Amino acid sequence: MLHATGPLLTVDVGERTATETDIVDVLERTVGGRATATALAHDRIPFDADPFGPENRAYLSTGPLQQSQMSFTGRMNMTGLSPLTDGLVSSNAGGYLSRNFVSTGYSVLEVAGASDELLAVHVTDSGVEFEDVPELEGATVPETSAYLERERDLGAEHCIAIGPAGENLVRFASVMTFDSRAFGRGGLGAVLGSKNVKCVTFDGDVASPLEIPNPPEMDIHREAAQSDDLMRRQGTTGNTEFINENFSLPTRYFREYEFEGAAEIGGNAVEAKKYKKGACSACAYACKLPTRDEETGVETEGPEFETVYAFGAMQGVDEIVDVMRANELCDTLGMDTISAGVTVAAYLASEDAFGDAELAQELTEKIAYRDGIGDTLAEGVARCHDDLDVPDYTVKGLEFAAHDGRTLHGQGLSYAVANRGADHLYASMLSLEYAGALDPQGTLDKADALVARENNSAFQDSGIVCVFGSDYVTDDRLEALFDADQEELMAVGARTVERERHFNNRRGFDRDDDALPYDLPDLEDAIGEYYETRGWSDDGVVPSDAVESVSSGANADD
Ligand code: SF4
Repeated sequence: MLHATGPLLTVDVGERTATETDIVDVLERTVGGRATATALAHDRIPFDADPFGPENRAYLSTGPLQQSQMSFTGRMNMTGLSPLTDGLVSSNAGGYLSRNFVSTGYSVLEVAGASDELLAVHVTDSGVEFEDVPELEGATVPETSAYLERERDLGAEHCIAIGPAGENLVRFASVMTFDSRAFGRGGLGAVLGSKNVKCVTFDGDVASPLEIPNPPEMDIHREAAQSDDLMRRQGTTGNTEFINENFSLPTRYFREYEFEGAAEIGGNAVEAKKYKKGACSACAYACKLPTRDEETGVETEGPEFETVYAFGAMQGVDEIVDVMRANELCDTLGMDTISAGVTVAAYLASEDAFGDAELAQELTEKIAYRDGIGDTLAEGVARCHDDLDVPDYTVKGLEFAAHDGRTLHGQGLSYAVANRGADHLYASMLSLEYAGALDPQGTLDKADALVARENNSAFQDSGIVCVFGSDYVTDDRLEALFDADQEELMAVGARTVERERHFNNRRGFDRDDDALPYDLPDLEDAIGEYYETRGWSDDGVVPSDAVESVSSGANADD
């Protein structure tokens, strides 16, 4: 089976050492990306680790397709123990980092330990350099990029960086690349912050190009370039009004299911502000959204649909420029727009201040600097809802994405059992329910579809193939690309989900954590069906002999 190549690079930022480990046997079994990082994290992060302790580790990993020039592959994976969910999370970002990462020759970067000084780590194909950067304390993401450009002649496409939110251990801080692309969910920016790592750069010239067999590559690239999908013009915002009409756009902190201002912040509104095409590396589909408001000078990339939801409908804000401004604030300060937007909405609910965009932006800044009430909100909804006296709309501590599980019941089931918490991309049951392939009503008899979707997502995140490329990078093309049949590919995804679950089980997660803050019909029976399909116990626990170790480490063979 095709897999990523190159050793694991372990950087201990406390000891300031860099070690290479041959992991070809791991890569052969796990392909790359999320599967490889999850396997390593499972074996090497102690089960009882503190997410903010030096014993936590952050993994940045590539799949094999990042060595090619194929469309839909300009993406990277990050994995670590989340300070928001307290379980293992993986997050995926686009941009232009992937080609620069593979050019260093490594398949995975593992960041271990914790530095006493704020640090930049420079990874090249001929070694690793540690640079103290006290002058970057409190710097925003673009300020950090400007420093690297000035001092190292490396553009933002060569680096990952955290903003003030990461330094201040905001539990939903993101890791940013290319200034505008986020490893958003689960607070991995705060993990780097706890290690005092401000940024990591990648520069080299040793990647061996991956020759994709024709015709799949040519077909994928040509079809992506010629597509007239609405998404190519409006990105993920193109479906805002459709989702709203389906009563699945949570509004005003989940008090309503549809937003009367959806058209003002949806696809047409975003497209009207778009001033040029945007893409990830080598992707002819080019669905990104560089936007600018000429009147105010506000400029950003996006907002994508989830930001339109979190800083628009969820807060009762119906002015697209306000959503653009909030999007830019989150990117600049380094925060996940979904968790930040929903947490701000929780505060607006507590103050009955929906629609106050100025207050929302003020709160967003305060969160990043843990200033005043921002210090409370920086903990996320699960930890601050009591103080605000609002319901806890999270699963496993992760704030909900849009696509309301109260309307799309299979998506609701997915939110309940996902190892990552209430994230829409963990299984994307929503696409089956919106398309009518599954009846959105009811939770029973959906376990087979849910397991298949989870496995498929986990494999895509390992390959790595963009979630928006499914109509082009079809199942048969994946089989040709990876020289493996569908069953083998999905087994890679299944083992990844199982490793995440096993790690979380060892931290104390069980059936009680697979819960929603609202009722759905037959939910407990449906969760039972899901466990049975996975082969897990009725308490949601993976059998102890089901997960094999792939590397040495704190938990190997435990
Ligand atoms: S489809 Fe869009 S998000 Fe995916 S790789 Fe291409 S440009 Fe990036």
